Amino acid sequence: MAGKRDYYEVLGVNRNATDDELKKAYRKLAKKYHPDANPNNKAEAEAKFKEVNEAYENLSDPQKRKMYDQFGTTDPQGFGGAGGPFGGQGGYYSYSSSGFDGFGDFGDLGDIFSSFFGGGFGGRSSSSRRQTGPRKGADLNLGIEITFEQAFLGVEKEINITRDETCDTCHGTGAKPGTSVTKCSVCNGTGQVTQVQNTILGQMQTRRTCSACHGTGEVIKEPCETCHGRGTVRKQPKIKVKIPAGIDDNQTVVLRGEGEQGEKGGPRGDLYITVRIKKHSIFTRKGNQVLCDIPITITQATLGAELDIPMVDGTKATYKIPEATQTGTKFTIRNKGFKSINSSSVGDFVFTVIVQTPKKLSKEQRDLLTQLAKTMNEQPPVKKRGFFG
Ligand SMILES: [Zn+2]
Ligand SMILES: [Zn+2]
Repeated sequence: MAGKRDYYEVLGVNRNATDDELKKAYRKLAKKYHPDANPNNKAEAEAKFKEVNEAYENLSDPQKRKMYDQFGTTDPQGFGGAGGPFGGQGGYYSYSSSGFDGFGDFGDLGDIFSSFFGGGFGGRSSSSRRQTGPRKGADLNLGIEITFEQAFLGVEKEINITRDETCDTCHGTGAKPGTSVTKCSVCNGTGQVTQVQNTILGQMQTRRTCSACHGTGEVIKEPCETCHGRGTVRKQPKIKVKIPAGIDDNQTVVLRGEGEQGEKGGPRGDLYITVRIKKHSIFTRKGNQVLCDIPITITQATLGAELDIPMVDGTKATYKIPEATQTGTKFTIRNKGFKSINSSSVGDFVFTVIVQTPKKLSKEQRDLLTQLAKTMNEQPPVKKRGFFG
């Protein structure tokens, strides 16, 4: 998927485009790039035609479009979840929020990982390299805790983050309203000044950041009073984050374009949200399986019974256990476990019956059991073992 363009970009529509708009855009482009209509550059047209077709095929299918919007791909193996390249714990799920889309190729796995690991540990090459052009904002990392049920069903959470946002007073210019930003006269707006020095080796040219404008190329005569000329202010916006059903403990959801503000028109950084799942009082999880112990009585175990088994979604499933069920026996209810994030498969619900020996008996029950005991006057045979075994 490296180098693949954003489907919306391919079709030239925005993210909220209706099915009709998609269809129209597709028809127009398909006509334009149809290889038969481009006899002079068939190969290029064919590539474009294929690209347009693929984009439309994915976006016209509501299911696929939803997935693409959420994860930036319709390929279930595209991202590193349980089945992805990073396996097991700590997969990354990515999706674009309302903010920034399509700067560079965010569908590219390499980009996601490099910005996460690089950004997280401060080892990004851009920090050591001087950049005068647009620069992507810093990534933000955050942890949230959800319940077992929320991980099972998926949940939308509202979280508070602290980040720089465009100043409302000056709309980001940094200049007091009514005044304007002017080009720095020292560097002529380039942000850098060139110095020529005469040395014994001849003329040496050095370039350094302009000290008059600190490299911005602009001078603010009267700074905005709200942001003191920075153009941004610290804010604590509420961000909505969709946690997909099936997410596992310690996995990360990525919200593209919800990090810190970029520099010089660069895109925002990303927001990485690591999900922790609270322990449940009766359910545990193993992969996509839900595990649970179900206590049963000695009569249920002996005679067989129809059990009401609590499911994670709050419903109950009826399950018939056979007579002569031994304690510790496992039973499986298919497809009642966790959804897989990477595929359409669903795990199973596995419960283990635990036979409870009654602690309190009524007189009647005791009499009945005593009668029963008389009919079973022998202990079950003990398995023979070696003397020292
Ligand atoms: Zn300057
Ligand atoms: Zn301002």
